[in-house]
Amino acid sequence: MRKKIIAGNWKMNLSIAEGSQLVNEITATLSALPDHKEVVFAPPFLHCTTLVQQLQGKNNIYVAAQNCSSFAQGAYTGEVAASMISNAGIQYVIIGHSERRSYFHETEALLADKVNQALAAGLRVIFCCGEPLAVREAGTQNEFVANQIKASLFHLEADALKHIVIAYEPIWAIGTGLTASSQQAQDMHAHIRSSINAQYGANVANELSILYGGSCKASNAAELFACEDVDGGLIGGASLVANDFVGIINAMP
Ligand code: PEP
Repeated sequence: MRKKIIAGNWKMNLSIAEGSQLVNEITATLSALPDHKEVVFAPPFLHCTTLVQQLQGKNNIYVAAQNCSSFAQGAYTGEVAASMISNAGIQYVIIGHSERRSYFHETEALLADKVNQALAAGLRVIFCCGEPLAVREAGTQNEFVANQIKASLFHLEADALKHIVIAYEPIWAIGTGLTASSQQAQDMHAHIRSSINAQYGANVANELSILYGGSCKASNAAELFACEDVDGGLIGGASLVANDFVGIINAMP
């Protein structure tokens, strides 16, 4: 069975104390997670080790970094190597978020290097893809997203795909309050899975978790998660409020 994953991307929000309190509130109200279900917290870097300690012994709850360097080590001021992230007890890293692609000019080639660094360090990757509004309006979203995946992931061997989770996040839905309809999400997730199938075969495609992200809330999560190819969510704003995030986690079958 594919893993069902709810990941909260805090972006550049919350102090360490606020983050720690949020995680306490969420874990206190969550019932035990079955083995096919995971919850992931992606706080800013400085919070990560606090959360790793706080979550010790909690089954199926993990920490993600929001970024890693495309370099292994050395004179790269301000960067954090994937090996350092892994060494800190963190299991996941988000790569290719649209905010990093757009504000930090991260190219597909750079993202491929980051993916390589993350996998070499033993991290699991949440790889984000998604089209801007103009592409959706032109009706070319399928080609656009397939190209993003091809450019940054298709150099990998099939075995490496076990460590990849894809998050489909239409840019027009991130932080805007606009959500893809469940049909739009299902269509794109099925398209992503069929691209993976064409490149790596059905076994790899069927095991790949594909998350939806973009204004997902407790009120629309159940409908999105009921779609056959939607295996959970990457949640921004709603992951900062305990009740909202718990509501989303509980909406995951
Ligand atoms: C995100 O940035 O990954 C995201 C999905 O944000 P929001 O849920 O706030 O749209």
